[in-house]
Amino acid sequence: MRLQVKRALPIYWLDDETVRIGAQQGITQELKDPAGELRALLPLLDGTREVDELLDVAGRALPILTREQLRAGIAVLDDCGLLEDASRYDDLPERLHANQSFFAAAAANTSSPANVAQRHISDSHVLLLGLGGGGSASLPLLLALGVKKLTIVDYDVVEASNLNRQTLFRTTDLGRAKVDVAVEYAHSFAPDVCISAINQRISGADEVRQLGIDGDAIICAIDEPPFVAQRRVNAAAVALDVPAVFLLSQHTRGRIFSVIPGESGCMDCLQIHDEVNTDDFLPQYRALMSPDRAGATAALAPHIQRLISFGIDEVVRLITRYAPPFAVGKQVEVDYIAGTLGTVMEWGRQPGCPTCGERDAQYDHIFEIAPL
Ligand SMILES: [Zn+2]
Repeated sequence: MRLQVKRALPIYWLDDETVRIGAQQGITQELKDPAGELRALLPLLDGTREVDELLDVAGRALPILTREQLRAGIAVLDDCGLLEDASRYDDLPERLHANQSFFAAAAANTSSPANVAQRHISDSHVLLLGLGGGGSASLPLLLALGVKKLTIVDYDVVEASNLNRQTLFRTTDLGRAKVDVAVEYAHSFAPDVCISAINQRISGADEVRQLGIDGDAIICAIDEPPFVAQRRVNAAAVALDVPAVFLLSQHTRGRIFSVIPGESGCMDCLQIHDEVNTDDFLPQYRALMSPDRAGATAALAPHIQRLISFGIDEVVRLITRYAPPFAVGKQVEVDYIAGTLGTVMEWGRQPGCPTCGERDAQYDHIFEIAPL
């Protein structure tokens, strides 16, 4: 381990005896240094030395302190969340250095799991279902995060009506398969990415399962047929034991929820929860599934980007646990007009769930409305 003051933190002296590390209120440490020890030690914490060598050099700079006192002093700086291991950057391409600096900044100390978050992302395999508004906005974020293995699935071609919000596509792409444009973008952005593109409409949970993800997260950005598509992805995620993040945009609001198989309630648990807790849930659900007229897409690009930013951050949290995921077993809603984010519903596992529990026949009528 080669210790350094976290790259993200500025170091500046308020006077001869007072140093600040960090700039923003609430995450800045102000340290007193009447004996000049920090003034001698901080420049040595530059990530160029292994710990033993650091202690040797610091011992020569501060002969008044013992090796153990120096070790204890460095441990205090680490406990204050001021240090990181410079070797974490050694094998990272430069384009990901700021990611590593962020995860180090999020880490409580050098032992925190957040320090290895970037490695988890780089090693992860993500399945992205759909390249509509949500999916096409997700792809550049996943690539910028450093995900190296991606499977993308879509069956559509680029249409003019997509171009108000699907910023991955250009006018020159009209008529092309979305997966082809996405692969081209991915390879030009990150030539080392391993991306599998499948031009296919998902028409069953088995199809999702057969994609054979050995992976770390599924992003469900498909919504056709309504509810059925998400139920299929949910069933596959539970069968594969892979966490899934669901992204939905309707009218003037977007929603995010996550399913961790075996831990949280799944989407079918949510339907049981709704039936048990919401008056007239089933008649509304049934009517919505056979509308006289389906609603047209209504969305602005910045709103979709906002929804997807939260959604992909949730994916990163699930993969790395740099911080707790915020939408597990919760419907988190982005209100595009109010500009707010909030939890609108929480639900737990339902023992009678046909997908993640022991199917209870009393709930069968719920799942007949949008069968898999
Ligand atoms: Zn369930």
